[in-house]
Amino acid sequence: MNPTFLPFAKPTIDEATIAAVGEVLRSGWITSGPKVQAFEALLSEYLGGRTVRTFNSGTCTMEIALRIAGVGSGDEVITTPISWVATANVILEVGATPVFADIDPVTRNIDLDKLEAAITPRTKAIIPVYLSGLPVDMDRLYAIAAKHKLRVVEDAAQALGSSWNGKRIGSFGDLVSFSFQANKNITTTEGGCLVVNHADEARLAEKYRLQGVTRSGFDGLEVDVLGGKFNMTDVAAAVGLGQMAHIEAVTTKRRALAQHYFANFGSDFEARYGAQLPVADFENSNWHMYQLVLPERLPRAVFMEKMMEKQIGIGYHYPPIHLLKLYRERGFREGMFPVAERVGRQIVSLPMFHVMNESDVERAVDAVKSVLSQ
Ligand SMILES: *Cc1c(COP(=O)(O)O)cnc(C)c1O
Repeated sequence: MNPTFLPFAKPTIDEATIAAVGEVLRSGWITSGPKVQAFEALLSEYLGGRTVRTFNSGTCTMEIALRIAGVGSGDEVITTPISWVATANVILEVGATPVFADIDPVTRNIDLDKLEAAITPRTKAIIPVYLSGLPVDMDRLYAIAAKHKLRVVEDAAQALGSSWNGKRIGSFGDLVSFSFQANKNITTTEGGCLVVNHADEARLAEKYRLQGVTRSGFDGLEVDVLGGKFNMTDVAAAVGLGQMAHIEAVTTKRRALAQHYFANFGSDFEARYGAQLPVADFENSNWHMYQLVLPERLPRAVFMEKMMEKQIGIGYHYPPIHLLKLYRERGFREGMFPVAERVGRQIVSLPMFHVMNESDVERAVDAVKSVLSQ
């Protein structure tokens, strides 16, 4: 038997959304317009009425958030080494200095004790990342920020649908950034959005995303900040509107799939195979990914190859940022963040997308156990 390939992630666009995109393409207005406004309004409604602005990637969303927070040259920004490199790149992009704090080995998110220890008089902002959709201790995070008078730019790229004690991520806090890249729980093909605190920040967001322009009357046009070209198109927003119709179902299904993973791995899995399961959280996490940390005895590349032979796609999220060449050139070295280095070397993402079924989970678990037994 040759089973069909099971990818680790897969976007699903329904027929109604495809039809809605067709309508936009035929309408004569394909760039930012009414669909973007409707998508921003829907996101705002989902996020407790806070103001939301959209962009053409999660990366530029983060960069604009840093600019709105006034982060620039001479400032330090603290973040985690285990994230997509975009999280640190945007700090460099605005001319600030990235400072890393090691991760917690259980949650794999930034360790808040180490974050607090890394604060200096030059620290201006912190960027927590909610890896696979699991938030950090949000009460503690905002207590640290208040105590040290720091801005928080939440890299909630993976966390749309996640919550903290019953409150949705994005419905509270400072500046909160989401991504709608193709593999995220909700996609616009590419895109992102930022939750801001008040109308002044919303106006700044609008300027930064479109060349710094403010229009008035029929022909009034002024530019007073250096903006770029970061606006979302109506084509993308139409995809997002169609996706948002399913967000509750997507989150519920992912939680059920995660639960099925735990049930099939069984309570003796970690002791028997020496691999580490994720935190079994079904209240807060949106289960953007289901990640294992492999035992050191098994090189990740070997594991991935053997899983591929069994027709199962495996991702790895992420290699430690501080060990990438661009960051080594800025003085970061092996040994600085030992937990991140160990986790970054051995972490793998198993198949997780909402149109998977329980038998797919069982197939993935059987394959993991079989590869780990060899
Ligand atoms: C996806 C992602 C980003 C970048 O978002 P893009 O939309 O791809 O630019 C940043 N940070 C994290 C944690 C992500 O998962």
